[in-house]
Amino acid sequence: MTALLAGKILWVLTVVGWYVIRYPFERRAKRKRVAATKRGAAETIRMLISFSGLGIVPGIFVASGWPRFASYPASWLQIAAGVVVMIVALVLFRLTHKALGRMWSVSLDIREQHELVTSGIYRRLRHPMYSAFWAMALAQALLLPNWIAGPAGLVGFGILFFSRIGPEERMMEETFGDAYRAYRTRTARIIPGVY
Ligand code: SAH
Repeated sequence: MTALLAGKILWVLTVVGWYVIRYPFERRAKRKRVAATKRGAAETIRMLISFSGLGIVPGIFVASGWPRFASYPASWLQIAAGVVVMIVALVLFRLTHKALGRMWSVSLDIREQHELVTSGIYRRLRHPMYSAFWAMALAQALLLPNWIAGPAGLVGFGILFFSRIGPEERMMEETFGDAYRAYRTRTARIIPGVY
């Protein structure tokens, strides 16, 4: 097996694992009433951009090798680093779903009887699911030896992250008031003690 093929297979496994973790929450979320939402045109556009970078562009590369001119020789060391980051991403992703439970949502929704989660992985970080997405995007950059398809996830998710974090924190503050302000002062966004 070549390192290129191994990287592609591992990327597909990451996406499958991601979906397996998420699917039960997506199903449950459909049955839970939404009390308030901050979805809108901007949110739809950033979700599409993120999905393109983490799904469509790398998916086309894995299936067809396009854009071929941007490919470079894959090294096993790079693939190994990708696997490590991929495992971190999946473990983190699972922990965030476990902690959020019925509060989970794919977008900016507040459900009926929504409670602020401050335990589990949410004790020190207020956006650990975004930490997991950053790790997943980094894993993609390592697993796919292509200068466009690899970093596309970092760019696509980066756009979603930096444009959503403000509105999301405002929504949480509007909903939970002082409880959220206190929570925000004692937590970091995505990297404990750093940011
Ligand atoms: N930004 C978070 C969660 C993303 S999922 C993270 O990175 O981990 C987005 C949904 O999760 C939003 O609709 C919001 O209502 C909900 N949410 C985010 N943080 C929450 C928290 N601490 N407690 C309860 N719900 C939360």
